[in-house]
Amino acid sequence: MLGACATGPRFEEVATKDTSRTFDTVVVDAGHGGKDNGAYRKFGGAEKIATLDVASRVSRKLRGAHLHTVMTRNSDVFIPLEERVSIENAQKNAIFVSIHFNDSRRRGIRGFETYYHSASSIGLANRIQAKLMTLPRSANRGVHHANFRVLRLARYPAVLVECGFLSNPREGGEARDSDYRDELADRIADAIIEQRHGEGGRTAKNEQSSENVTSPFLNRD
Ligand SMILES: [Zn+2]
Repeated sequence: MLGACATGPRFEEVATKDTSRTFDTVVVDAGHGGKDNGAYRKFGGAEKIATLDVASRVSRKLRGAHLHTVMTRNSDVFIPLEERVSIENAQKNAIFVSIHFNDSRRRGIRGFETYYHSASSIGLANRIQAKLMTLPRSANRGVHHANFRVLRLARYPAVLVECGFLSNPREGGEARDSDYRDELADRIADAIIEQRHGEGGRTAKNEQSSENVTSPFLNRD
């Protein structure tokens, strides 16, 4: 879920670099955090908790495939949207993947959605959405263009994934299940790895160090 302010004032278009096939760093953004709970429903708990868990799992899986990852947060802290974008834009050769869960007043609404802004992000968005659709009983709400700040201000390909509706009893219940969150992370990570290395890329590992995780928070103070 994105708050009403997530779109923000209009700025001029940001020139994006198409690193969608060449990236070596993935900025993994766990939506919300700290004072910003995101969506909150009794079925799914706070969105900020589920997003951090899925994002951490995605990051771990990508590191296992020898991609460099940067988490915009790795604890329950509030990070302004502009800072999330700055973290991405400070990388040399990156893509940005933001993890969210959805919310609706209508409990029956469910399914996955993936958003992009720049044309260079469409391939990644389509791939993530298609991979999520391989989960059992998944519902497809489509890939959409959006003006969200974290996407619009990104210098690199950037997507935002809505991993199901916390307001839906079944998807909200699934979001509470760590095995299911691992399945979500698996699909998202697989899509990113395929985007970089082509299908079967997950097994085409090279001999880089696995100690290549960095966090902007660990590098401070
Ligand atoms: Zn959200």
